[in-house]
Amino acid sequence: MGKKYVYKFGPGGAEGRADMKNLLGGKGANLAEMSNLGIPVPPGFTISTEMCTVYYEQDRNYPPELEEQVKEAMAWVEEKMGAKFGDPENPLLVSVRSGARVSMPGMMDTVLNLGLNDETVQGLIKNSNNERFGWDSYRRFVQMYGDVVLGLKPESKEEVDPFEAIIDEMKEEKGAKLDTDLTAEDLKELVRRFKQLIKEKKGVDFPEDPWEQLWGAINAVFGSWMNPRAITYRKLNGIPDDWGTAVNVQAMVFGNMGDDSATGVAFTRDPATGEKEFYGEYLINAQGEDVVAGIRTPLQITKKRSVEWAQQNGISEEERRTRYPSLEEYMPEVYEELVKVYQTLERHYRDMQDIEFTIQRRRLWMLQTRVGKRTAQAAVRIAVDMVDEGLISKEEAILRVAPDQLDQLLHPQFDPKAEKKVIARGLPASPGAATGRVVFHAEDAEDWASRGEKVILVRIETSPEDIGGMSVAQGILTARGGMTSHAAVVARGMGTCCVAGCGALQIDYAKKQMRVDDLVIKEGDWISIDGSTGEVMLGQVPTIEPQLSGHFGRLMEWADEIRRLGVRTNADTPKDAQVARNFGAEGIGLCRTEHMFFEGDRIKAVREMILADDEAGRRKALEKLLPMQKGDFYQILKVMHDLPVTIRTLDPPLHEFLPHEEEQQREMAEEMGVPVEKIKEKVQALQEFNPMLGHRGCRLGITYPEITEMQARAIMEAACELTREGVKVYPEIMIPLVGTKEELAHQREVVVRVAEEVQKQYGVKVDYKVGTMIEVPRAALTADRIAEVAEFFSFGTNDLTQMTFGFSRDDAGKFLMEYIDKKILPEDPFRTLDQDGVGQLVEMGVQKGRKTRPDLKVGICGEHGGDPKSVEFCHRVGLDYVSCSPYRVPIARLAAAQAVAKEKLQAA
Ligand code: ADP
Ligand code: MG
Ligand code: MG
Repeated sequence: MGKKYVYKFGPGGAEGRADMKNLLGGKGANLAEMSNLGIPVPPGFTISTEMCTVYYEQDRNYPPELEEQVKEAMAWVEEKMGAKFGDPENPLLVSVRSGARVSMPGMMDTVLNLGLNDETVQGLIKNSNNERFGWDSYRRFVQMYGDVVLGLKPESKEEVDPFEAIIDEMKEEKGAKLDTDLTAEDLKELVRRFKQLIKEKKGVDFPEDPWEQLWGAINAVFGSWMNPRAITYRKLNGIPDDWGTAVNVQAMVFGNMGDDSATGVAFTRDPATGEKEFYGEYLINAQGEDVVAGIRTPLQITKKRSVEWAQQNGISEEERRTRYPSLEEYMPEVYEELVKVYQTLERHYRDMQDIEFTIQRRRLWMLQTRVGKRTAQAAVRIAVDMVDEGLISKEEAILRVAPDQLDQLLHPQFDPKAEKKVIARGLPASPGAATGRVVFHAEDAEDWASRGEKVILVRIETSPEDIGGMSVAQGILTARGGMTSHAAVVARGMGTCCVAGCGALQIDYAKKQMRVDDLVIKEGDWISIDGSTGEVMLGQVPTIEPQLSGHFGRLMEWADEIRRLGVRTNADTPKDAQVARNFGAEGIGLCRTEHMFFEGDRIKAVREMILADDEAGRRKALEKLLPMQKGDFYQILKVMHDLPVTIRTLDPPLHEFLPHEEEQQREMAEEMGVPVEKIKEKVQALQEFNPMLGHRGCRLGITYPEITEMQARAIMEAACELTREGVKVYPEIMIPLVGTKEELAHQREVVVRVAEEVQKQYGVKVDYKVGTMIEVPRAALTADRIAEVAEFFSFGTNDLTQMTFGFSRDDAGKFLMEYIDKKILPEDPFRTLDQDGVGQLVEMGVQKGRKTRPDLKVGICGEHGGDPKSVEFCHRVGLDYVSCSPYRVPIARLAAAQAVAKEKLQAA
């Protein structure tokens, strides 16, 4: 028999389980789990993800045992269903479904009704006693197989689907409005035309042999693992290529057998808000993904939602009940059963589920369950509610929200008081406020975004091909589709604002414009969309700061209770400092002083200092800068009262403060009353081949100690004044780019001398510290010695990464993406800390530093301080705090708590 590749599931139990996702894929594992729970699942089998890997290893060939195992499993399904695959009298039909470990939009679409041919369709008709159903199933099969397996798709983005074009033609001929208006005869004719189309376009006969159909579909699933869409998605989401996909082959149940049949999708809680309310959509006499394809308007499952929906759409109660009934009203018994199933699933999985079901002649069949995608808002609310309901622990709740997802909650929303010109309304599919310029094609979105434009991607509906464009858009707007449409689901997953199913839009792809009544909106026009209300507005609407209380506040409280790492912020202005403090920052980990050098009059004084010929001249210019810097520090220290504020002395090379263009050099000369030659000479003199490794950081302070002196004085004078006013301040003066103990000792001596002087002058004591950044590899290697003169360390992981790899931060963009594509590097080391390499230096720096000075305070202030994976690393190596940009503070707080929660759950 060889290795086992095929796992059966269905009534009576399964060979797999939910925890076998790696082997069976998400769909297969959950179908098995539902079978084991006694939930009605049509029988079937899963070909494991291992087969996918073998398939590619063997140059797209299968080991001989596979066919045997598939045959055996099919016989088992036949027995369960009392029908035979390919039997003209009593045919078994199956679906072929892909299923990777995590749901992936790039994968092969499902093929339904496989096993039909000109003979077996007769058996299906006879047994169902429903001719229309037989031909409807057949035409769907030929269409899906043609599209998905034989690759007969639209050739350009403007072209419509060739099969849909034939259907539209047919509807026109017959004067039919809906698909359901077509007769059995019409559908039979469609099958004929579809096959003819395939023959014409693909040069092959449609395969009549069910086994040939089956293997064709299986090949297509495995083949789709390496299609460009799937590869792009995996890259975007960091999914390894060798995970592979599984194939699920499952007996068909039919939602298109008549008005006592239906198909639908649902969420056990509201995926947009997280509210504890069963929510979903269904269609009567329909099959598969009709619900999400936006062909007919889906109906609401619960009566409550149905009534709300009717109100929103101006539909009378009478009309609603007769034409758009909820499942709760239309089939109360089946609804009751569905409610029981969803409650069982939610209790069992202890998480919100996204389910798919089909009702065949009033009998409920479950076809899928998985953990439902949700907005950040919903994720937070569901996690907190489930703790209250006793379903999960606080630690689990903390782990349920992806830190990066919080971003959605922290960003501004539309100002409710702003004037809004609402031109249309769609479904609030993914919350947020987005403003951007309209584009109509995913490629255009990518183009425009690469030029730094903010875009709103507007589509009739989206498809997996659009992923790239969707991921760069500020917001997504579609004319068709419901809350479970592709656009809605993907947008929620990406945390992108989305308004879906906005029927008022008449989109013209060819002209690149859309109309709402008489209003024409062209490509490039500004619009705003509100993913929480569904409003589409003309122009740019102003936004306001978000609310951080309620469920969010409670989750963050739990996070703060358990985390050990402190979280500070990188802030250079009082405003940023205040934002960060509101977000829970416990201090400033990096305040860059050079930004203060550029504003207004300051740049003039800075330039005077640079142009000065001697120390006396420099000191004169620095005198002018002193009160300005002092004012800045005063404000920042005041905002951050009671908390530590780390201020870094001047870091960049001086030439950054001089103009490099002739034109501006002339202006500057005029303004300062010096000959332009003098400026040119200075620029020349300061020019460096390798500025990043040049005259910067502490090297500046060592050659021009008066600069450090002035900065130390400004900091200490501000601190002393505030202390006098009764404000508690904790300045920490940080020397950048230190590589040897002697460098730091030199600068420390300058700072301490000034600090003592200023304190004496003011007659107050300030609790201040002097420390250093560890960002030159040599500093990490000699951290024990450096700690002799440092009261704190802060790892500047941007420079440390740059110097450890020898990658110039400003030039690495040219090759880093290719490095990642070619798997030379797993990810961008400037975004996620390289734990293997740079991380070793950090760990060593911490250990060596603490050996000398056990109470040494150690933090990190590179970009990595706000990256969840890097935060976890910082926790592990025993840092005291991370520091990140203001908006990432809550993200870092949660990530720091997750590091502890993981440890706790692992220990348990
Ligand atoms: P996706 O991965 O896109 O969710 P699925 O494999 O779940 O694709 O298939 C999509 C839909 O096709 C299902 O939700 C279901 O409605 C329908 N379907 C799949 N298999 C069957 C089956 N055996 N019987 C009836 N409908 C099926
Ligand atoms: Mg699909
Ligand atoms: Mg599905």
